[in-house]
Amino acid sequence: MHDAAPIQAFPDHAHDHASCVAEALATAERICNERGVRLTALRRRVLELVWNSHQPVGAYDLLGELARGGRRAAPPTVYRALQFLLDQGLVHRIESRNAFIGCAHPEDRHVVEIMLCSQCGRAAELPDDRIASAVRAAAKRLGFEVQRQTIEVTGLCAECRTAPAGAAAERS
Ligand SMILES: [Zn+2]
Ligand SMILES: [Zn+2]
Ligand SMILES: [Zn+2]
Repeated sequence: MHDAAPIQAFPDHAHDHASCVAEALATAERICNERGVRLTALRRRVLELVWNSHQPVGAYDLLGELARGGRRAAPPTVYRALQFLLDQGLVHRIESRNAFIGCAHPEDRHVVEIMLCSQCGRAAELPDDRIASAVRAAAKRLGFEVQRQTIEVTGLCAECRTAPAGAAAERS
Protein backbone atom coordinates (compact mmCIF):
# COMPACT_ATOMS: atom_id res chain seq x y z
CA MET A 1 0.00 0.00 0.00
CA HIS A 2 1.53 3.31 -1.04
CA ASP A 3 1.31 6.44 1.07
CA ALA A 4 -0.60 8.45 -1.52
CA ALA A 5 -3.58 6.08 -1.44
CA PRO A 6 -6.70 7.83 -0.25
CA ILE A 7 -7.84 6.23 2.93
CA GLN A 8 -11.48 5.83 3.62
CA ALA A 9 -12.37 7.11 7.04
CA PHE A 10 -15.43 8.80 8.46
CA PRO A 11 -15.90 12.03 6.52
CA ASP A 12 -17.75 15.04 7.92
CA HIS A 13 -21.50 14.63 7.79
CA ALA A 14 -21.55 17.82 5.72
CA HIS A 15 -18.97 16.63 3.17
CA ASP A 16 -19.67 16.67 -0.55
CA HIS A 17 -20.74 13.07 -0.93
CA ALA A 18 -21.49 13.45 -4.65
CA SER A 19 -17.75 13.77 -5.19
CA CYS A 20 -17.14 10.55 -3.18
CA VAL A 21 -19.54 8.77 -5.55
CA ALA A 22 -18.10 10.35 -8.69
CA GLU A 23 -14.58 9.46 -7.64
CA ALA A 24 -15.52 5.88 -6.72
CA LEU A 25 -17.18 5.32 -10.10
CA ALA A 26 -14.29 6.87 -12.02
CA THR A 27 -11.79 4.72 -10.08
CA ALA A 28 -13.89 1.61 -10.71
CA GLU A 29 -13.98 2.30 -14.45
CA ARG A 30 -10.26 2.88 -14.54
CA ILE A 31 -9.24 -0.25 -12.66
CA CYS A 32 -11.72 -2.48 -14.49
CA ASN A 33 -10.16 -1.21 -17.72
CA GLU A 34 -6.67 -1.90 -16.42
CA ARG A 35 -7.66 -5.39 -15.33
CA GLY A 36 -9.50 -6.16 -18.54
CA VAL A 37 -12.81 -6.86 -16.80
CA ARG A 38 -16.14 -5.29 -17.70
CA LEU A 39 -17.94 -2.82 -15.51
CA THR A 40 -21.33 -3.45 -17.09
CA ALA A 41 -24.19 -0.98 -16.66
CA LEU A 42 -25.73 -3.15 -13.93
CA ARG A 43 -22.44 -3.60 -12.05
CA ARG A 44 -21.86 0.16 -12.26
CA ARG A 45 -25.40 0.89 -11.04
CA VAL A 46 -25.05 -1.54 -8.12
CA LEU A 47 -21.74 0.07 -7.18
CA GLU A 48 -23.36 3.49 -7.35
CA LEU A 49 -26.16 2.30 -5.06
CA VAL A 50 -23.72 0.83 -2.56
CA TRP A 51 -22.03 4.24 -2.57
CA ASN A 52 -25.35 5.94 -1.92
CA SER A 53 -24.07 6.67 1.57
CA HIS A 54 -21.32 5.64 3.96
CA GLN A 55 -23.78 3.34 5.70
CA PRO A 56 -23.64 -0.34 4.78
CA VAL A 57 -26.44 -1.41 2.47
CA GLY A 58 -28.01 -4.86 2.34
CA ALA A 59 -28.66 -6.83 -0.82
CA TYR A 60 -32.43 -6.57 -0.36
CA ASP A 61 -32.21 -2.80 -0.15
CA LEU A 62 -30.19 -2.80 -3.35
CA LEU A 63 -32.87 -4.87 -5.07
CA GLY A 64 -35.50 -2.42 -3.90
CA GLU A 65 -33.50 0.57 -5.09
CA LEU A 66 -32.93 -1.00 -8.49
CA ALA A 67 -36.65 -1.70 -8.86
CA ARG A 68 -37.47 1.89 -7.88
CA GLY A 69 -35.09 3.13 -10.54
CA GLY A 70 -37.01 1.14 -13.13
CA ARG A 71 -34.23 -1.39 -13.51
CA ARG A 72 -35.85 -4.47 -12.06
CA ALA A 73 -33.18 -7.13 -11.94
CA ALA A 74 -33.52 -10.75 -10.87
CA PRO A 75 -31.87 -11.35 -7.48
CA PRO A 76 -29.28 -13.82 -8.86
CA THR A 77 -28.19 -11.19 -11.39
CA VAL A 78 -27.73 -8.63 -8.64
CA TYR A 79 -25.86 -11.13 -6.45
CA ARG A 80 -23.55 -11.88 -9.35
CA ALA A 81 -22.95 -8.14 -9.84
CA LEU A 82 -22.18 -7.82 -6.12
CA GLN A 83 -19.85 -10.81 -6.29
CA PHE A 84 -18.01 -9.16 -9.18
CA LEU A 85 -17.64 -5.95 -7.17
CA LEU A 86 -16.41 -7.96 -4.16
CA ASP A 87 -13.92 -9.91 -6.27
CA GLN A 88 -12.54 -6.67 -7.69
CA GLY A 89 -12.30 -5.16 -4.20
CA LEU A 90 -14.68 -2.36 -5.20
CA VAL A 91 -17.00 -3.17 -2.32
CA HIS A 92 -16.53 -4.97 0.98
CA ARG A 93 -18.98 -7.19 2.81
CA ILE A 94 -19.76 -6.34 6.40
CA GLU A 95 -20.27 -9.85 7.74
CA SER A 96 -22.03 -8.87 10.96
CA ARG A 97 -24.67 -6.90 9.01
CA ASN A 98 -24.72 -8.95 5.82
CA ALA A 99 -24.33 -5.62 4.08
CA PHE A 100 -21.90 -3.86 1.78
CA ILE A 101 -19.86 -0.68 1.64
CA GLY A 102 -17.85 0.84 -1.15
CA CYS A 103 -14.08 0.78 -0.95
CA ALA A 104 -12.32 4.10 -1.51
CA HIS A 105 -8.97 2.55 -2.47
CA PRO A 106 -9.74 -0.56 -4.49
CA GLU A 107 -6.50 -0.29 -6.45
CA ASP A 108 -4.64 -1.58 -3.40
CA ARG A 109 -5.50 -5.13 -2.40
CA HIS A 110 -5.82 -4.90 1.35
CA VAL A 111 -7.00 -6.65 4.44
CA VAL A 112 -10.45 -5.41 5.34
CA GLU A 113 -10.87 -4.06 8.83
CA ILE A 114 -14.12 -2.24 9.38
CA MET A 115 -15.12 0.34 11.97
CA LEU A 116 -18.87 0.64 12.47
CA CYS A 117 -20.37 3.67 14.18
CA SER A 118 -23.24 2.58 16.40
CA GLN A 119 -24.75 6.07 16.34
CA CYS A 120 -24.76 7.27 12.72
CA GLY A 121 -24.57 3.75 11.29
CA ARG A 122 -21.66 4.53 9.01
CA ALA A 123 -18.79 2.20 8.27
CA ALA A 124 -15.19 3.04 7.46
CA GLU A 125 -12.01 1.09 6.95
CA LEU A 126 -9.27 0.95 9.51
CA PRO A 127 -6.14 1.54 7.45
CA ASP A 128 -3.87 -0.66 9.51
CA ASP A 129 -3.12 -4.29 8.74
CA ARG A 130 -1.09 -5.01 11.87
CA ILE A 131 -4.04 -6.76 13.53
CA ALA A 132 -4.52 -9.07 10.58
CA SER A 133 -0.77 -9.73 10.37
CA ALA A 134 -0.63 -10.51 14.09
CA VAL A 135 -3.52 -12.97 13.78
CA ARG A 136 -1.90 -14.63 10.77
CA ALA A 137 1.46 -14.91 12.54
CA ALA A 138 -0.05 -16.28 15.76
CA ALA A 139 -2.17 -18.77 13.82
CA LYS A 140 0.84 -19.87 11.78
CA ARG A 141 2.78 -20.64 14.96
CA LEU A 142 -0.05 -23.05 15.79
CA GLY A 143 0.14 -24.61 12.36
CA PHE A 144 -3.08 -22.94 11.26
CA GLU A 145 -3.42 -21.29 7.89
CA VAL A 146 -5.80 -18.33 7.83
CA GLN A 147 -8.06 -18.28 4.79
CA ARG A 148 -10.38 -15.50 5.74
CA GLN A 149 -10.68 -13.23 8.70
CA THR A 150 -13.29 -10.71 9.64
CA ILE A 151 -12.32 -7.72 11.69
CA GLU A 152 -15.22 -5.48 12.57
CA VAL A 153 -15.12 -2.98 15.38
CA THR A 154 -18.16 -1.16 16.69
CA GLY A 155 -17.92 2.24 18.35
CA LEU A 156 -18.51 5.94 17.87
CA CYS A 157 -16.99 7.96 15.05
CA ALA A 158 -15.19 11.19 15.94
CA GLU A 159 -18.12 13.29 14.83
CA CYS A 160 -20.71 11.34 16.83
CA ARG A 161 -18.50 11.47 19.92
CA THR A 162 -18.59 15.24 19.85
CA ALA A 163 -22.12 15.73 18.45
CA PRO A 164 -24.77 17.10 20.79
CA ALA A 165 -27.40 14.55 21.83
CA GLY A 166 -30.19 14.27 19.27
CA ALA A 167 -27.99 15.20 16.34
CA ALA A 168 -27.71 11.51 15.51
CA ALA A 169 -31.17 11.55 13.96
CA GLU A 170 -29.62 13.42 11.07
CA ARG A 171 -28.24 10.66 8.91
CA SER A 172 -25.95 11.06 5.99
ZN1 LIG B 1 -18.94 10.57 1.05
ZN1 LIG C 1 -11.18 -1.26 1.11
ZN1 LIG D 1 -20.97 8.22 13.80
